[in-house]
Amino acid sequence: QFKKNFLGQSADKFTRAASSQKCFRTSDIDKVGHTNRHLTFFEMLGNFSFGDYFKTDAIAWGWEFLTKEMSLPKEKLYATIFKDDSEAYDLWKKIVPESKIIRMGEETNFWNMGPTGPCGPCSEILYDLGPEYSCKKPDCGPHCDCDRYLEVWNLVFTQFDRQEDGSLKNLPRKNIDTGMGLERLAAVANGKTNVFETDLFAPIIEELSDILEVKISENPFQLRMMADHVRSVCFLIADGILPSNEGRGYVLRRILRRALRQGKMFGAEKPFLYRLSAEVAEIMKSAYPELSQRRENIASITKMEEEKFLETLESGTKILEEIMAKYKSSDVVKNKGNLKSKFVIPGDEVFKLYDTYGFPLDLTKEIAKENGLDIDEEGFKSAQRDAQKRSRAAWSGSGEKDLSFYSELHKDLGNTVFVGYDKTNAVSKVLALTKNHKKVNALNEGEEGEIILSETPFYAESGGQEGDTGEIKSQKGAVLEVKNAIKPVNNFVIHKVEVKKGTIAEDEEVTGTVDIKRRENIMRHHTATHLLHKALREVLGKHVTQAGSLVAQDFLRFDFTHLAALKSEEITAVEEIVNNAIRDNMPVCVSQMSLGDARKVGAMALFGEKYTETVRAVAINDEKDNHYSLELCGGTHVRRTGDIGMFKLISETSIAAGTRRIEAVAGEAAEKYFRHIDNLLDDISSKLKATKTEISAKLDKLMSREKEFEKEISKLKSQLASGGTQDLLKSVKDVKGVKLLTAKLADTDINSLRDLSDNLRIKMGSGIIILANIEKEKLSFVVSVTKDLVEQKYSAGKIAKNLASLVGGSGGGKNDFAQGGGKDISKIDSAFNKISEHLL
Ligand code: ATP
Ligand code: MG
Repeated sequence: QFKKNFLGQSADKFTRAASSQKCFRTSDIDKVGHTNRHLTFFEMLGNFSFGDYFKTDAIAWGWEFLTKEMSLPKEKLYATIFKDDSEAYDLWKKIVPESKIIRMGEETNFWNMGPTGPCGPCSEILYDLGPEYSCKKPDCGPHCDCDRYLEVWNLVFTQFDRQEDGSLKNLPRKNIDTGMGLERLAAVANGKTNVFETDLFAPIIEELSDILEVKISENPFQLRMMADHVRSVCFLIADGILPSNEGRGYVLRRILRRALRQGKMFGAEKPFLYRLSAEVAEIMKSAYPELSQRRENIASITKMEEEKFLETLESGTKILEEIMAKYKSSDVVKNKGNLKSKFVIPGDEVFKLYDTYGFPLDLTKEIAKENGLDIDEEGFKSAQRDAQKRSRAAWSGSGEKDLSFYSELHKDLGNTVFVGYDKTNAVSKVLALTKNHKKVNALNEGEEGEIILSETPFYAESGGQEGDTGEIKSQKGAVLEVKNAIKPVNNFVIHKVEVKKGTIAEDEEVTGTVDIKRRENIMRHHTATHLLHKALREVLGKHVTQAGSLVAQDFLRFDFTHLAALKSEEITAVEEIVNNAIRDNMPVCVSQMSLGDARKVGAMALFGEKYTETVRAVAINDEKDNHYSLELCGGTHVRRTGDIGMFKLISETSIAAGTRRIEAVAGEAAEKYFRHIDNLLDDISSKLKATKTEISAKLDKLMSREKEFEKEISKLKSQLASGGTQDLLKSVKDVKGVKLLTAKLADTDINSLRDLSDNLRIKMGSGIIILANIEKEKLSFVVSVTKDLVEQKYSAGKIAKNLASLVGGSGGGKNDFAQGGGKDISKIDSAFNKISEHLL
């Protein structure tokens, strides 16, 4: 954030700064847990000089801070310097014995911003934790990367400007840029030898050991790694990042899944990381209250991602094991000549695992490593690129023709002046007319085409807001209906028109008038969209960001990032916040500002959107003149929130993983919506012959009566059917001494068939009963065999199976009773015959 200050290009008045900031790096991820000092999330303290104080003060003050403020014992501190930095050497010599100044090479003690430009040597302050932490190599010393000498602070002296030819020129303004890890400082200041032993981590590690039922002393590395990752997950989510397969979301996903897999190796079957968010929030709350505020949100997002991964982890692990087995055997290497060496899993396999099972690259890498295998990372990346290309290819291919026509026109005519923020009509000149992508001199009555004006009050479709409609009249009496306005290139506005009367020609003077009522409704929905955005972030959390929007005259649609469906209380809360903001009748203020200033005051901007240097900011201000909402937006808005009238959310759905969609109405559209609901209720209440307040009770009553009816009908049906037993008994056949009854019935149900069959069984004493119920396009049947025949190995289940296969269906059951169904109604008679033949 200080790049401009360092280069002397900032307008800031100050020349010194001190900072404490959240850092997240994955560059040390493999080390986390294994060393005493590496984390993925940490807090970095820093002090900066922009052409102000330099090396002398930076070193003296660094020393003073550590030895006086933090009371670290002097004898334990060492300093490293860049080997050629004699200035630093001389400065340190005044402070520590020369034996404690270590000259180091470029890789650790020289900082570059890029191949050319500002750069300079650095000097690190190390803390000696004692010989027991040494790697015990004979040459172990302060230059060693092991755990003994802990780097606490890095002081960077930006004093050179590297030239194209590699030579170093002195910078006119020298800078200081230092970084000190808070966790490392906390460790040494508290006499600990490991960042994980500080109170920033110890409670998290303890809780992890409780939840997973593993002893800290037996698995310190794994628990430390998980504790670190959990902290990162909490902070990333609190900063508005959601797990996804791209960019920052993917980094979050990787780290979460890495920790979860470790838990799974300890036997965790259920999500558990989310349970730690409370502890993390508790530890960090004084400095980062947002963690407590968003605790529930953090927990639920974490839990959902855990559930998702646990589902696929098992199957993915199995697949990976198979792959590993394959690439461990040397045969494969011989057969696949293209493999570099054995023990390397090819990139496309790694990608498949990533694509189908959500296995992050470094997770596969880690599992492979545990099994003595490598992975082809380059191959993975190229497989990923191919997949992206394929999905992009599927998207493109439309619209280019239009665009080239318009950009040619735009080259000639330039941008259109938009005057529609302040007025809804304007006098203007016809610059061009087009029809079917060709320029024309005139458009005649009845013709449709496009018109380009020198200036326009018509808002062209953009930023989700629909284009204006209205009328254009020429001085010569032509009348054109404006059906839409778009801006295909830059601010070049194309009006889609139909000539209603007369003829319009190039160069004529015209007056354009926007359909005011429609525009006002659009403005209500647009300002309401900003209020909705604000309310969603308040209710659901700061991770909510706009993913898409449509602002129309009769409704608004707002897509945003959020994982779960909104609970009904959340919906109510959102509606209340928006409607309160409407009643507060806050002014909507539009201003132009530099992009930098807009960022500074926290304006909400869209990700991936390109903004110009000067941006239009739409602020809704509260009575103290603070920004209640501030968004970068080119749309048209009401003057005060009260103009919106009212707001009602009408639907909330999911449109993609992690993306929700809200539709809502405001102002007149809301009024219409309520009227519609009210009419509906009137209609229902007149049909139910109940007042509106009685509707619900009346419906309950009707519904319970319906249930009773159903029961009654079913009872009656079976009674009717059993009344028919006498008739049915007449058709009993004797097949080799076994009584067989087959019968077709119509329009009854399976329960009645069962009752009937039970009745017949009693009446017959011994026998086989097959009853089929014939409906319009299907049949169902029951088969019942009396106990004595079951003992003789007759089976209702087998008969049902046979019968079903004869009528094109399925069936089965126990030996004494079975049921089934089929589609070939016409085959039932022959099927009955076949069954009886079979018994013979
Ligand atoms: P190391 O050599 O120990 O990895 P570094 O040279 O990468 O450290 P810098 O990039 O100079 O460190 O960062 C400045 C300071 O930030 C370090 O002196 C250290 O106190 C802290 N720091 C850097 N990386 C980490 C990390 N992964 N975890 C915790 N603190 C860190
Ligand atoms: Mg490092």
